[in-house]
Amino acid sequence: MRDFKPDIYQNSIFDINYDKLYQKGIRCLLFDLDNTLGLYSEPTCSKEAKDLITKLKKKFTIVIVTNSGKGRITPYLEDLGVDGISWAFKPSCKSLVKIKAKYHLTKKEMIIIGDQLMTDILAGKKFKIMTAFVNPLGKRDLPVTGLNRFIENKIINKYSKKGDFERGKYYE
Ligand SMILES: [Mg+2]
Repeated sequence: MRDFKPDIYQNSIFDINYDKLYQKGIRCLLFDLDNTLGLYSEPTCSKEAKDLITKLKKKFTIVIVTNSGKGRITPYLEDLGVDGISWAFKPSCKSLVKIKAKYHLTKKEMIIIGDQLMTDILAGKKFKIMTAFVNPLGKRDLPVTGLNRFIENKIINKYSKKGDFERGKYYE
């Protein structure tokens, strides 16, 4: 089986130790949008997420990478004043290649943070950058995500049988 085990697993983006990431040399945080930074039902950014990103912007380059369209991402980018890529087609790494070049980064300086193994984490694994997995903020997914969640559950079950990685067992 392909390696899907994220480098970090936390409940949400609010639980990640960003100081530790900075100490490890991370300079660019790539955030997934839906169910990572915001709920599907939130057309704009929540205050909590905005406060976090505002703080993180002082130290890191922040880029939102979403498989959703431009209409979905634009209010978030305007609100947060960060860069972003829509229609990223994760697990394709194309968007990561672009961001690496645009900001003159090394792979060791990048981490992708998201709520889906089959898109966010797989893109990071393929591109060989650090990966952080979080639980989805909400219960609702896009219909297209249903199949990915089904496969994701099977993968997590395999890992948890080996005692490697299971839902709710966080590590950093
Ligand atoms: Mg997501």
